[in-house]
Amino acid sequence: MSNLYLNCDNVYILWKGLQTLSSYNDILSSSADSKSDPYSPEDNINVVVRVRPLCSREEKSNDGSAVDFPGNGQILLTGLSDVPGMKGTKTKVFSYNVVFEPGATQEDVLQYSGITRLIEMAVEGFCATAFCYGQTGSGKTHTLTGPPNLFKGKKVNINSPDHGLIFRSFLYLFRLLQDRSNVHFVLKASFLEIYNEKVIDLLNPGNAKKSLAVRWSKKSQRFFVENLFTVDCEELDDLLAVLEEGMRNRAFGSHSMNDHSSRSHTILTVYITSEQQMENGVYITKQGKINFVDLAGSEMTKKTHSEGKTLEEANNINKSLMVLGYCIASLSDSKKRNGHIPYRDSKLTKLLADSLAGSGVTLMIACISPARSSLTETISTLRYASRAKKIRNKPIIVM
Ligand code: ADP
Ligand code: MG
Repeated sequence: MSNLYLNCDNVYILWKGLQTLSSYNDILSSSADSKSDPYSPEDNINVVVRVRPLCSREEKSNDGSAVDFPGNGQILLTGLSDVPGMKGTKTKVFSYNVVFEPGATQEDVLQYSGITRLIEMAVEGFCATAFCYGQTGSGKTHTLTGPPNLFKGKKVNINSPDHGLIFRSFLYLFRLLQDRSNVHFVLKASFLEIYNEKVIDLLNPGNAKKSLAVRWSKKSQRFFVENLFTVDCEELDDLLAVLEEGMRNRAFGSHSMNDHSSRSHTILTVYITSEQQMENGVYITKQGKINFVDLAGSEMTKKTHSEGKTLEEANNINKSLMVLGYCIASLSDSKKRNGHIPYRDSKLTKLLADSLAGSGVTLMIACISPARSSLTETISTLRYASRAKKIRNKPIIVM
């Protein structure tokens, strides 16, 4: 495959894979019942907040928690009087549909974030995106993937409570496909990184230094990444291999992992094609996809703004993150949302345009640290999340 889009000639190849799933049956059935669906189906974007526990460094340095949970989806920030720009305010409350407190498990995030709806919609042919937003160290990668050593070395323990949302979503997806025995599915996956506006293929390390082009397809009316590796995933193991390989290549390609991962975005995409024969003999084909996006640290946007950079100059800091902010701001503003949305201005927003607009669906997981020393970043993340919550309409993409 030479681009993002699926070739419908391959429609039948998944079937063999689905027959081999029995070893996963127990865990598949245990993770498939979504207990909660807190959103209205009309919502274009669902916003949830995850607050990670204080880390040992924060605990040791007496950097206590400045976050409280009064209930009803509220987050109470305390001790704000020392925070620049808060003008004597002591406390502030933010409200969301769903807040994951520090004790929440990885499985809770699958069950209560609304991701199961996104997976179901992707199976039905929609474009879905789940992205984690927050400052470096706030828990984005932990939420999506799990702790860094999870995949190192030995065989993956499928029952580990540490597995992140991507792994759990794969299990949920395969369970859904198993339940639809009258439909033929084909799955493919790709994994890319955007670093300094360069698109790097994490599944094709030979190509690691090359930047891939993002182009517009007239035929499908979407952007796609030219020559991006897409891997056939007949079995659950194939999807897991994609996750593992991409994570390994991301770490391998960088000298300083922390700096690199705080500046880069990764997108793991699962493409789902289904073909079903209707009673009248006609075949209906649907093509959906789900993106899992681990964004660069949100402190990068601030750096860009505070240095007074123009869009052009911001290129080397983080143009994509900044443009995503502009797109979300425009989409959430009732006066601007039907006007020009600047998707074309960055690689990331080009690739997410079909989820953010049109009939796409998006889940934003805003990640924050509870530490007092992170309050400035936390306020900025919660404001961003509140703005994103206002996106309701389904605007037409203006290219
Ligand atoms: P980010 O990707 O936002 O930079 P990480 O996911 O790497 O942040 O998290 C920073 C550190 O905090 C890591 O050591 C990670 O394992 C830990 N951590 C993050 N979220 C949680 C959580 N919910 N529970 C336990 N540890 C967490
Ligand atoms: Mg990270």
